[in-house]
Amino acid sequence: MHSASPATTAPRLQGTAVLVVGAGIMGTGIAQVAAQAGHVVKLYDTREGAAAAACDRLAATFGDRVAKGRLEAAAAQATLARIQPVDTLDAAASVALVVEAIVEDLAAKRALFRELERVVDAGCVLATNTSSISVTAIAGGLARPGRVVGMHFFNPVPLMKLVEVVSGLQTDAAVAEAVFELSRAWGKQPVHAKSTPGFIVNRIARPYYAETLALLQEQAATPAVLDACLRAAGFRMGPCELMDLIGHDTNFAVTNSVFEANFFDKRYQPSALQREMVAGGLLGRKTGRGFYRHPDDGSTALPVALHEAPATAREVTVHGEGAIADQLEQAATRALAAQGWGPARLRASGWTGVEIDGARLVLTDGRTATELAATTGVARLAVFDRPQLPSAPAAALAYALAEQADDVWRSQAAAWLAALGHTPLPLADTPGLVVARTLAMLINEAADAVLHGVCTAEDADAAMTLGVNYPAGPFEFLARWSVSEVVALLDTLDAHYRGERYRVSPWLRRQAQRASPSRAEAS
Ligand code: NAD
Repeated sequence: MHSASPATTAPRLQGTAVLVVGAGIMGTGIAQVAAQAGHVVKLYDTREGAAAAACDRLAATFGDRVAKGRLEAAAAQATLARIQPVDTLDAAASVALVVEAIVEDLAAKRALFRELERVVDAGCVLATNTSSISVTAIAGGLARPGRVVGMHFFNPVPLMKLVEVVSGLQTDAAVAEAVFELSRAWGKQPVHAKSTPGFIVNRIARPYYAETLALLQEQAATPAVLDACLRAAGFRMGPCELMDLIGHDTNFAVTNSVFEANFFDKRYQPSALQREMVAGGLLGRKTGRGFYRHPDDGSTALPVALHEAPATAREVTVHGEGAIADQLEQAATRALAAQGWGPARLRASGWTGVEIDGARLVLTDGRTATELAATTGVARLAVFDRPQLPSAPAAALAYALAEQADDVWRSQAAAWLAALGHTPLPLADTPGLVVARTLAMLINEAADAVLHGVCTAEDADAAMTLGVNYPAGPFEFLARWSVSEVVALLDTLDAHYRGERYRVSPWLRRQAQRASPSRAEAS
């Protein structure tokens, strides 16, 4: 799926000497993994003493691990002995691969590659660890642009398995393949990617932050609530705590670069709220304050909500088919067991959720509770977010009430969601709530990446699980959902906000048409 020039003879990279240029965080990590895989590694940095200092830092880290019994002294010694700090780029003359990890600046990288071209052998591969610059642009103007390839590692390099092998327009297929195989030999899980803004991970991950930032701007909920909902969906960290960890300056810069590189497509528009935070120095952990205060002053805690017990019901019916309806039925059965009766089930229903004496808890399809109440004439209505399957006991779940709802239903909706095994967290009545809209947008972005030949669906899944630890890849999320429902939800968001942001990927729409041709024709 990666675009690359026709294959030439495959360069032989295994077991050869490697030059790493740039002895910062990434370069040091890359040198470590290459040396651990048995390569002799030369490490170069323009800053005097930086390469030697990097070796000292590695020696200290290895020393700690040996002391703790996590690494054999002999192995540590052998790895360290293979890394040699060098003072000039002349060292490039004797290597088959150069990996560049210098400052993220196109002019600096181009200048370095031009200089390297004068020193290296004809068959030497030039790899760049850039996280956002076009590989095509870095290779532009070189005598042999075919040997330039992206080798995008993730931080911390020794721990993160993913390597995006990025092909620019002129990259030789054989070069990309050789770097792919080499990454495997280094214990990594490589994926092929086409050089496009953000490559795979930094592109597909944008909505994870953007949807939460949009919800915050709409004052739909607090950072703690949004984080709790996405953690309950299986993500290791919520978007707010993650942005605080990454640093809002870095996160904002990546979003901006993807936005600009896409000719200011509104789909990728950065958040004014985040710009304000960056301008004010609220960068997250590194400045002690982002969405939260660091160290935590309790602002990450959720408000403690006390739910009254659900009133005794006369009739409870679980609506809909599928795994979420099944989970609801089990939960309702448990909730009603004490009273000695169970829920009815109506599979052939137009909606998924639970009906309690005519009041409705409806799984979000993108429409707001207020809109659903208006169209159905049911004022006692609330929508709830997509739960994870199976849901952990008392997992956070966002819900929103219809504006038409009376005071009794306002407390009973939460009481019933709690009785069904969740921790209900109220949100303003926003379309698609938190998890549903975030997952739909991740799926949509991944679909466009596949449409544009950036990567395969399998590689998108691998990249998101390995590169940013998502609990599942976007296409795995899609497989657990329904393509027509995802498209319908996005269309609803699109109609609600009227902009380019929620525009459905043609790839996804085509899948939906294939899945249900009659419905697609009708709409
Ligand atoms: P860093 O600032 O820690 O290290 C960069 C090093 O390069 C510095 O030691 C600097 O002295 C040296 N340097 C600068 N210009 C040089 C030149 N012309 N020749 C030789 N050495 C030079 O940066 P980093 O975080 O290690 O990032 C390096 C590259 O890796 C960037 O392109 C960055 O976008 C990319 N990257 C970073 C991360 C991350 O999380 N930090 C992740 C993936 C990719």
